[in-house]
Amino acid sequence: MKVLIADAINEKGIENLKEVAEVVVDTSITPEELADTIHEYDGIVVRSRTKLTADLIQKADNMKIIARAGVGVDNIDLDAATEKGIMVVNSPESTSITVAEHTMGLLLTMARKLAIADKSVKEGKWEKKKFMGVELRNKTLGVIGMGRIGSQVVNRCKAFEMEAMAYDPYLPEEVAKQMGVELTDLETVLKNADFITIHVPLTPETKHLISTEEFETMKDTAFITNCARGGIIDEEALYDALANDKIGGAALDVYEDEPPAEDSKLFELDNIVLTPHIAASTKEAQRDAAIIVADEIIDLFKGGTPKNVLNMPRIDHKTYQEVSPYLSLCEKLGSFISQAVNGKIKEIEIVYSGELSEIDNLEILTRTVIQGAVNPFLSSPVNAVNASLVAKDRGISITEGRKNNAKGYDSLIKVTAKSAEDMFSAEGTILHEERILKVNDYWVDVIPEGHMFIAKYEDVPGSIGKIGTKLGEHGVNIGIMQVGRDEKGGRAIMILTLDKEIPQSVIKEIQALDNVYEAIGLDL
Ligand code: NAD
Repeated sequence: MKVLIADAINEKGIENLKEVAEVVVDTSITPEELADTIHEYDGIVVRSRTKLTADLIQKADNMKIIARAGVGVDNIDLDAATEKGIMVVNSPESTSITVAEHTMGLLLTMARKLAIADKSVKEGKWEKKKFMGVELRNKTLGVIGMGRIGSQVVNRCKAFEMEAMAYDPYLPEEVAKQMGVELTDLETVLKNADFITIHVPLTPETKHLISTEEFETMKDTAFITNCARGGIIDEEALYDALANDKIGGAALDVYEDEPPAEDSKLFELDNIVLTPHIAASTKEAQRDAAIIVADEIIDLFKGGTPKNVLNMPRIDHKTYQEVSPYLSLCEKLGSFISQAVNGKIKEIEIVYSGELSEIDNLEILTRTVIQGAVNPFLSSPVNAVNASLVAKDRGISITEGRKNNAKGYDSLIKVTAKSAEDMFSAEGTILHEERILKVNDYWVDVIPEGHMFIAKYEDVPGSIGKIGTKLGEHGVNIGIMQVGRDEKGGRAIMILTLDKEIPQSVIKEIQALDNVYEAIGLDL
């Protein structure tokens, strides 16, 4: 086996690889040189310098694995790799401890005013009284997002004798219990936490999750930190909260614009600590990234299955031809029901009807549904390879069924999400393009794409108009509208495609309208 290290990685990873492969290190290789030699290699390790385009991958006739030491894979054409049967892996867990430690650094910096104290001493001042701090001990930590990083922050805060509570609507109670944290709603976290720390992905749901109203809810001594993604905190609202002492302080590693504008108002404030998106930058994280991807390659060469695979497994050509037209629909159905159902999903049921039900192996479709269902709330992409594992870790059980009768269509796929308090289903097919034909018990005809909105409301005159007016007032244009109802004057459902994303504040306003039971914004 021959592996090319095309970008600089930590020596330890290279050493490990040498035990199973002939390793060539050429970290200045040009695209032209790579095009001439790529066919010689069974594996390649890159970071972000080397661009593995479709053309290059096409030439990689012996390649079995592409490893990205790090997280983002924008420099790798995943589809081309899948088509060529090459596995792509990365190392999303390599930065978790590093980011958690940076978060601890920021919590302490805020609590003890370290950054401004340092600046003051260097200016020749000795302002002991000005820098009176607070302890972390016996304070309440409020974690928003209890994934890889959030859970590591909790572990570290326990050593500081802090109490921890968390908001993570997608984490099962049992898993939170094992992590030793009490799960609660966002408002309770905001009201009670002395230190709030954000570790969620940036999604339509988390965009400006923390804005004016949320700052109003916090204690006026609360400290907040964001080492996740810019845009989760509304920076305008943050500035107002800090400038008017509505909260104690803040610390950011990530920004709505990176770098922030030179004249950012945040720079004027003393009660904010700012770092330049370095939470993941440590030697250890880079070393771990190299070791993790080396282990993945070693695993594959020894006949095992790497765990961080980002593209799909190969399936036989005939099955792929039959199922591939449904892959995108499956992902969208999964995403649709997962964003629409209330509460934590406990079960996803998938039923294939008609021609599809006659195909022996539909696992790839089932995995793609799960991928669509869990991706909206996880930070690193879940894919058809690891989807089942992720679902299991999150306490979601999967059932797959088949039916002959496709109600007059060639094939139908029905996906149902069940939580403790709710159940939401969508049934779709391909009619030249992807269509959702039934939502819960209502027949509709919707193209699932882009920004969407669902309202459940009482079927009385004026209900539809009020919702449309609210959207119009906020400049949200409706593309297509579909309505369905169980009976005259009963419960009805409206599904809209929108020309732009619907802000959470507008959803809240619609939710507050008389006759509206529920309003949900979705992004497919
Ligand atoms: P993860 O996927 O392991 O965890 C994310 C958690 O957020 C999950 O438990 C999920 O259930 C939860 N979540 C999703 N939507 C939510 C919502 N609306 N409300 C509350 N919880 C919600 O991700 P991770 O690896 O822990 O990363 C967390 C964040 O840190 C991501 O935004 C990631 O991009 C970011 N990150 C930043 C840096 C940096 O350099 N600053 C480095 C690595 C990761």
